[in-house]
Amino acid sequence: MKLGVEAALVDGRLVRGDVEIADGRVAAYGLSSPNGRAVAAPGFVDLQVNGFAGVDLLDADADGYRRVGEALLETGVTAYLPTFITAPEDQLLAALREAPTGSDGPRILGVHLEGPFLSPRRLGIHPAAARRDPDVDLLERLLSAGPVRLVTLAPELPGADLLIDSLLRHEVAISCGHSDATAEEANKAFDSGVRTVTHLFNAMRPFRHRDPGIAGVALARDDVIVQIILDGVHLAVETASVVLRAAGGRLALVTDAMAGAGLTDGTYRLGGLEIEIQDGVARGSTGALAGSTLTMIEAVRNLHALGASLEEAVGAATEVPARVLRLPSAGRLGVGLPADVVVLSDDLEVERVLVEGQDRVAL
Ligand code: ZN
Repeated sequence: MKLGVEAALVDGRLVRGDVEIADGRVAAYGLSSPNGRAVAAPGFVDLQVNGFAGVDLLDADADGYRRVGEALLETGVTAYLPTFITAPEDQLLAALREAPTGSDGPRILGVHLEGPFLSPRRLGIHPAAARRDPDVDLLERLLSAGPVRLVTLAPELPGADLLIDSLLRHEVAISCGHSDATAEEANKAFDSGVRTVTHLFNAMRPFRHRDPGIAGVALARDDVIVQIILDGVHLAVETASVVLRAAGGRLALVTDAMAGAGLTDGTYRLGGLEIEIQDGVARGSTGALAGSTLTMIEAVRNLHALGASLEEAVGAATEVPARVLRLPSAGRLGVGLPADVVVLSDDLEVERVLVEGQDRVAL
């Protein structure tokens, strides 16, 4: 089957010509396409999805996951990490047991645990009562309960180095976030194998001239992938612009989507919390931001509008987040790789989505 596209995004390059798919994989690209239109890109990879389409993944059942999956596909996401914010142990264990490893929608690559080992000073809307100091035994129980793939933690907490050691042993990716780490503490964490930062600038020590903190260190180091929520709310335009200039090629877009994403304003759940969405902005009772209603295709458009090339904007939603998980075949379009593809129009609308060569969305 040929896609009928004008070009394809292959390893960060726009290659003219059509794409052929056979047996669920990309068989060829760069094929003659006289009437081709639109661009085939790798399907998007979202590292941080709390919920979507009315479903809060922390207490979703199989039907909830199915609904989230179908809605995510329409936004171009073909692989994601269900993300659980800080919650009591029982609730996290139950949610981890419920998390599917396979899916007939987008691929579920594992769970992102955002907490509970976070800084009490940078919790944002995470419930303080469920926050925990580093506790390797608790971590082991969480890892045993389900497919944990990424953990966000505050590396400056006493004992966090033991969590990092344990996660590295289990080959679970680690992200620094909800953290008050100084530059020194951040450098130590990155030197020890942490490779990324959760929602840069949000819920972390502010960047100051002699106290750059974790945000400054993450921007200054070429070996750190910075994740951002590019919804026009979490970061000022100028801040996002600085991030793009400083961290081109190692910038990962995440949505941090919560249950209200894809729906209208109203009241939704995030973990045990009640969240109000007004004018598309999700806030908890204190007014703190509580996830977003952003979709990945919107994030790609926003990054492109900020000055990133099409190649770079799509890379930030595909190859870069896949690199966080050390998944060389995810987020890429290449001969022999699974045909997880999103077809984008000239104005960056999702036109068609395939997972493993199967048409899932045709808009
Ligand atoms: Zn967060």
